[in-house]
Amino acid sequence: MPELPEVEVVRRGLADHVLGRTVADVELRGLRVARRHVAGPQDLTDRLGGRRIEAVRRRGKYLWLDLGDGLGLILHLGMSGQLLVEDAAAPDEKHLHARFRFADDGPELRFVDQRTFGGLALADLDAHGVPATIAHIAPDLLEPAYDRAAVVRRVKGKDSAIKRVLLDQTVASGIGNIYADEALWRAQVHGERVSSALTKPRIGELLDHAAEVMREALGEGGTSFDALYVNVNGASGYFDRSLAAYGQAGRPCRRCGTPIRREHFMNRSSFSCPRCQPRPRAVRASAGP
Ligand SMILES: [Zn+2]
Repeated sequence: MPELPEVEVVRRGLADHVLGRTVADVELRGLRVARRHVAGPQDLTDRLGGRRIEAVRRRGKYLWLDLGDGLGLILHLGMSGQLLVEDAAAPDEKHLHARFRFADDGPELRFVDQRTFGGLALADLDAHGVPATIAHIAPDLLEPAYDRAAVVRRVKGKDSAIKRVLLDQTVASGIGNIYADEALWRAQVHGERVSSALTKPRIGELLDHAAEVMREALGEGGTSFDALYVNVNGASGYFDRSLAAYGQAGRPCRRCGTPIRREHFMNRSSFSCPRCQPRPRAVRASAGP
């Protein structure tokens, strides 16, 4: 599953190649790609034709095109969705689901998705230019609307495992399993500690680590993709070598040398250092929401 840095890499690539261009027409292959668009595939293609791409925006893991007049197109990447900018003469990909042609006859935008969990949907944009369907998602740690002090207060006010709170998209969006584990390792906090028991400076530090680790991943991802190939390939492959905790079970902690442990948490795996991130001694309250 792509996380915030991977989606931001795609956003920047898209902005470089489609910003300011006018859509001539959109061709859909099959119906699955439009299944999230309630009014149906015909409505989707009818309303896209003639629209100019005014902005390419992102909040957390959500990516959308601002088409002006309060209309947006959400690009759900799912597990394996890719957006490719290609010459019209390039052969069709096996899993091509949508093709955008532009009025300038320049390169096409193609949506390719091997596992078909992704798709396209039009949405009304609110006064801040955010699709109404995702307005409940909180700003992410890298956008100007992020209010650090407010998020610290919200985290402090929750009686839940801190990792669960970090993953809660209504608190701050865009932190997924990988970057939550990395931030917790850097802050030396076990993910099952109760958020309300952490001090506000500690919570602030943890959020800063989360923002920092995502910025670092972005720095690496930003240099790894071909100019004409905007790509998302699942979980941050290019950042793997920089991970200190996630996926590192059994390898020595880079800080103290103790083997990193793997634990089950929220139906997923959590990775942490047993020495730098001791488990909470007693669970005061249930770790539920
Ligand atoms: Zn350690």
